[in-house]
Amino acid sequence: MKMHNFSAGPCVLPSIVYSQAAEAVLNFENSGLSILEISHRSSAFVAVLEEARDLVLKLMNLDASQYSALFLQGSASMEFLRVPVNLMRSKAAYINTGTWSTKAIAEARAFGEVAVIASSADRNFSYIPTDFIVDSQFDYLHFTSNNTIYGTQFTAVPQASVPLVCDMSSDIFSRVLDFSAFDVIYAGVQKNIGPAGSSLVVVKNEVLGKTGRSIPSMLDYQQHLNHDNLYHTANVFGVYTSLLNLRWLNDLGGVAAIEAKNEEKANRLYRAIDGLDMITGMAEREFRSKMNATFRFKDNSLDAVFDECCRQANIVNIKGHRNVGGYRASMYNALPIESVDVLVQVLEQLKHKA
Ligand SMILES: *Cc1c(COP(=O)(O)O)cnc(C)c1O
Repeated sequence: MKMHNFSAGPCVLPSIVYSQAAEAVLNFENSGLSILEISHRSSAFVAVLEEARDLVLKLMNLDASQYSALFLQGSASMEFLRVPVNLMRSKAAYINTGTWSTKAIAEARAFGEVAVIASSADRNFSYIPTDFIVDSQFDYLHFTSNNTIYGTQFTAVPQASVPLVCDMSSDIFSRVLDFSAFDVIYAGVQKNIGPAGSSLVVVKNEVLGKTGRSIPSMLDYQQHLNHDNLYHTANVFGVYTSLLNLRWLNDLGGVAAIEAKNEEKANRLYRAIDGLDMITGMAEREFRSKMNATFRFKDNSLDAVFDECCRQANIVNIKGHRNVGGYRASMYNALPIESVDVLVQVLEQLKHKA
């Protein structure tokens, strides 16, 4: 029995990815070896890594002579640190739209002056600030495109004349953007790319090497690039499974094709939420996320009824983050639309139980 998994991450992957990954654990590409035992320097794995890195740039429509993709260990929280180490000379601008931005800001403060040029903390991160000016003196502007915990999402890429850095952990590859507007894009892979245990970093080559600081090797994007992403043992299984998912996305028609599906899923769920008097959405409508829908019942005695209905419908991982409470339905690329329909039915049924 397959559950309807609304987890915010690690999240559901396409079922074909599970079967292909399982197959590779037993016998990787008919080699008589498991993917878990092959060398990260074997030609077979180097081909996997190169295909995955190329596919990332292709799906983002980025020029491979200007941008590089890296699969690194440490996940998004490590990039909170690696970004300022690699990019900050003296001061950087950050937009604070939630828990993850707050953490990114705290890390950056260890390396220079951080100006929080806009924040939505005043209304518990329920919206995206749009009124800010980015002075050209900053080394870069950092923002979080989708706020996984609060359920808000930037509707447009911020305009800035300085390098643009984005934590895209929870909406990467979910919608078409002009990816060439960015200088660094990073994401923990466990939300829309693959299994937990890595981060994906896409970097515009020319932005590196300008800080004048000496950077410890494992933190240095350039060091990883100089070694073709094999400076040290790669996360072999994680990269392979990410590749399977990227292939799935590419075969489907790429980011534009999945965006249409994501729109439909979000529309169906928000239509149900908006149509039910007993539910309040937690994010302001204009900024609500197509990936993570946050909501709560006005009468919280309904929580127990809803929990039981979810249990019966095989819906799992729908509790809100502890910072926000209520519920959160995460609808990443691989969540089938049928799962959204099941959730909508459960919500509709509650109307009669309320
Ligand atoms: C989950 C998440 C992170 C943290 O990811 P880790 O992989 O746990 O380090 C950072 N930013 C955003 C937007 C996230 O959703």
